[in-house]
Amino acid sequence: MSSHVSGSPTVLSVIIPIFNEEANIPTLYKRLRGVIDPMGLSCEYVFINDGSRDRSLELIRGLAAQHDDVRYVNFSRNFGQQMAVTAGLDLCVGQAVVIIDADLQDPPELIPQMYEKLRQGYEVVYAKRRSREGESAMKKLTSKLFYRTLANLTNVDIPVDTGDFRIMDRKVVEALKLMPEQNKYMRGQISWVGFRQTFVEFDRAERAGGQTAWTYRKMIRLALDAITSYSDVPLKVSTVAGFFVSAIAFVMMIYTFYSRFFRQSYQPGWASLMVSILFLGGVQLIAIGIIGEYLARVSADVRRRPLYLIDDTNIVLEDTRPQRQ
Ligand code: UDP
Ligand code: MG
Repeated sequence: MSSHVSGSPTVLSVIIPIFNEEANIPTLYKRLRGVIDPMGLSCEYVFINDGSRDRSLELIRGLAAQHDDVRYVNFSRNFGQQMAVTAGLDLCVGQAVVIIDADLQDPPELIPQMYEKLRQGYEVVYAKRRSREGESAMKKLTSKLFYRTLANLTNVDIPVDTGDFRIMDRKVVEALKLMPEQNKYMRGQISWVGFRQTFVEFDRAERAGGQTAWTYRKMIRLALDAITSYSDVPLKVSTVAGFFVSAIAFVMMIYTFYSRFFRQSYQPGWASLMVSILFLGGVQLIAIGIIGEYLARVSADVRRRPLYLIDDTNIVLEDTRPQRQ
């Protein structure tokens, strides 16, 4: 696909989205090196600063000044974790690409094991968590519910209990670059592209420092993006429900006419009228709402805005974006 990248001597790229991670960056980098250096491959570390408001940028710039295998990309504002990872995928050059959270919830120590699976011929190896420490019961429950719902609603098989921690072959990265949708759901995309996928298991640790930036609001957004990007079921449910309710209304209408004109016995049906109007109104609003969700995504894609804006970076952009040459 791209001569530059396929001829790249860089074997491994590590993509790290950063949003207010000053407490974790030094440890993370140390632990990554501790694991990756012994593997003896040429590796680049791509830090994407997603509009952090703490000293994160300063720290990664400092690392980049000290080590010439550290790249940084500084976004013009916060674009969200999915976009940070997207930028990393666009700009990295490695033959194998790792995506890892900065908060050390994803143990870098798994990377050699994951890389080994890649060598065995898999194209995607994701890390599947066996347990989750330090996350609230509510978060565990919602996340479990979400994955189960998603699995039932969609026909792409999105692996349960995984985050974004995974290693991918260059082939997969090139495939992902062909999917420019605005409302990204990376886990869905990675599953959608296919190839040979497998997993390694681990126990997920507590966030090392700082705070999660995921609010329930953001989680609901991501869940809606995931469902609407990979499933038409909500749309169909509303249609089916609409038909069902209309059918009942039709039967009731015939019955009303029958009572009114043939049996001549009827009540002034104020209550039933109100109830049916409200009920139908409600159903219609739900249906319109669901259509609106899809429409919002269609319009976002039609606008074709850039997915993210880079303020500055130490990556020479022409070199790493062969598709623009
Ligand atoms: N992150 C980001 N932009 C955001 C939110 C998060 O780049 O708007 C990064 C964050 O720095 C971390 C990763 O995405 O490296 C995962 O975030 P977090 O740990 O808050 O998510 P959780 O583990 O709670 O799902
Ligand atoms: Mg985390």
